[in-house]
Amino acid sequence: MRTQMKKVETRGDHETRRWSAEEIAREYVGFFRKRGHLEIAGSPLVVPENTTSFVIAGMQPLIPYLRSDVSPPAERLVDLQRCLRTDDVDAVGSNGRKLTSFHMLGNWSVGGYGRREAIRLALELLAVYGVDRERLWVTVFAGEPGLGLARDEEVIAEWRAADVPEERIVPLGMDDNFWTTGGPGPCGPNSELFVDRGEVLGCGRAECAPGCACERFLEIWNLVFIEFERHEDGHFSPLPLRSVDTGMGLERMAVVLQEAPSIFEIDLFWPALERLRALEGSGDGDEARAERARRVIVDHARAALLAGLAGVVPGNLGRASVLRRLIRRAARQGRALGIERPFLGELLEPLARAHGSLLPVDEQGRVAEVARMVTDEERRFARVLTAGLRALERIVAENGGDEIVPGERLFLLHAERGFPADLAAEVLAERGLAVDWSGYEQALAGHRAVSRVSAERRFRGRSESSHPLHPLSVESGEMPAN
Ligand SMILES: [Zn+2]
Repeated sequence: MRTQMKKVETRGDHETRRWSAEEIAREYVGFFRKRGHLEIAGSPLVVPENTTSFVIAGMQPLIPYLRSDVSPPAERLVDLQRCLRTDDVDAVGSNGRKLTSFHMLGNWSVGGYGRREAIRLALELLAVYGVDRERLWVTVFAGEPGLGLARDEEVIAEWRAADVPEERIVPLGMDDNFWTTGGPGPCGPNSELFVDRGEVLGCGRAECAPGCACERFLEIWNLVFIEFERHEDGHFSPLPLRSVDTGMGLERMAVVLQEAPSIFEIDLFWPALERLRALEGSGDGDEARAERARRVIVDHARAALLAGLAGVVPGNLGRASVLRRLIRRAARQGRALGIERPFLGELLEPLARAHGSLLPVDEQGRVAEVARMVTDEERRFARVLTAGLRALERIVAENGGDEIVPGERLFLLHAERGFPADLAAEVLAERGLAVDWSGYEQALAGHRAVSRVSAERRFRGRSESSHPLHPLSVESGEMPAN
């Protein structure tokens, strides 16, 4: 568990120590173990009985403890959890902090310590990492009287006691500072820690503060005070145990400690980014567009690697369709970089190497196999992609200057050429064009009616249906709800 100094940089009169992602993780686990936390293994990324395709949050595997359904192996726990969520996959690449797959480091108190100790431990570890206290901002729950939820005065008092200046304690509402599973389940107010990355990254507005969409304030750690159970009807009741559930984003912390311009330039992604640059041809010269493409590609490649290592293969349903969609989205972005051949699989080896011990030896040994699977999927999709992109060009040309593309066109593009409608919509959106989805729905409904009739005819032994459309499959687009 010893951490070694990798690189020392001298900046002015102080030294900045660079932490690798592996070291950040090792230090976190070691720090909390020394303070009485039992290290537990992270859950596999895929848990068949979960309601989500993948584990989507660090706390998900611990829910039974927080609800007192199962007693935990210890009151204090620490773990490293891999997560994958694609609910806002469209946002990846448009900012420097959003990933589909990520590692959450978490320390937990199941019915033990509360706000004071959670804050003390967090501040102590941030000092070990060398995060300047002057750069720290926190958000707290402002309360929601309509739901009978009070402002979190207790946590405000603790931050004040820890010498965080008043102006850097920011109260926010339900959306930002009340953690829920998204449905019924354990929940409670939370307090988030942000690092100010400097005015130079900010939007420049006077009201710029944590919660702002710009790159200045980066959320690194979330302390959640699990105290309530949210019920089906939306009402809240107190849980038998008050617990603390924290999550520190490993990749986010690496951005801060490695002073990376974006999350895609931390040590875990850098080698893959380099490899990608080496594979690039001549794109269309739009550098902002190319940069976004690179971000999407390295993000999706890492997510595909982790999903593949968890045993998922691309397919049409559930998590298999999530993986398929990630690979196809990334493949499409490759075209923007002038890469015409399958390339995604080649990024997996540099990614895996960069992850070092974050991928155990047995997983390292399976990387080549996952890379082949990714390449096969990309190859299968390549012809559809080329033909589909060309057909889309025609659709755009024929649409004149109209900013709305008829949904029926996208329906036909999928039905006749297998080109996913969601991918087509993304391509159109990049050109400022929207899709009339009601037209898509109508075409789909019409097709289903025809299919039903022809199926009935076939059933009666008269299979003369000459309808030109192929049956639609689930891959038509929508990501399954996570
Ligand atoms: Zn801002």
